[in-house]
Amino acid sequence: FDDRDGHIWMNGKLVPWREAKIHVLTHGLHYADCVFEGERVYNGRIFKRDEHHQRLHDSAEILGFRIPYSVDEINAAAEEVLHANGIADGYVRPVAWRGSEMMGVSAQQNSVNVAIAAWEWPSYFTPEARMQGIRMKTAPWRRPAPDTAPVKSKAAGLYMICTMSKHQVEAEGYNDALMLDYRGRIAEATGANIFLVQNGELHTPVPDCFLDGITRRTVIDLARQHGYTVHERAIMPEELAKTDEVFISGTAVEVTPVREIDEHTFTVGEITRNLLTAYDELVQRGDERAASASASAA
Ligand code: PMP
Repeated sequence: FDDRDGHIWMNGKLVPWREAKIHVLTHGLHYADCVFEGERVYNGRIFKRDEHHQRLHDSAEILGFRIPYSVDEINAAAEEVLHANGIADGYVRPVAWRGSEMMGVSAQQNSVNVAIAAWEWPSYFTPEARMQGIRMKTAPWRRPAPDTAPVKSKAAGLYMICTMSKHQVEAEGYNDALMLDYRGRIAEATGANIFLVQNGELHTPVPDCFLDGITRRTVIDLARQHGYTVHERAIMPEELAKTDEVFISGTAVEVTPVREIDEHTFTVGEITRNLLTAYDELVQRGDERAASASASAA
């Protein structure tokens, strides 16, 4: 990913893609004091841009460091990156980390660095997998308790369990892993939240030890606008046996149907299809605030 043309915004200025480097003794690399965002661009606009950049700030604050650029400055930098790379439909990756000044566990005085990259990325799963529903398997790793890890932060360190889980199930031919939480409840996928449809109603886990995804909240709003009942509650994996439809939601995966989890199979049913379409239409249209923000900037 490092050997390509283009520009990456790094600490206030655009640098050529291949030169956007950090030192091997970067604190964020050794001790995972690093937070990031994942955003999608549709028709030249970052969907829910302000929310993502606010979450970047909040994630860093949870880890105890302050991002030296305001949300507005990050907004402007992200737009600059899109423009410099000519991206109208793609993905934006802001990342912030503690630098290389001190190497011990404690690094209170270390610099906080920020970079923003963007690239074209049409689909997270293949379009076929997305329409037919993906296959998932329960992960061997669980989401930690809120007093064990900073679960509300989109912190790089938390992705260790996601990557290990995803690799393990991919080796067995599955598309993604279902992660249970420390109590054995259904939590989420490795980079997305999860919804179940039972008897025509939606059920999704309470986000008390994983991200309350921006897409998750958008889908809940869309579902209620469509007249569906949405329950946020504790869900045990045994309930998969009486579940009709399952889908996952996230910036990258958007709304993606799930056709299989372990021994349970599901249909790509009407509710999933309706919400998938409603979400696609919303992102293509642009959410109101993002639309008005770019109109006033233009
Ligand atoms: N959970 C995890 C572990 C994720 O990586 C993501 C993607 N950021 C989500 C949930 C969904 O969050 P969002 O809808 O804000 O992208």
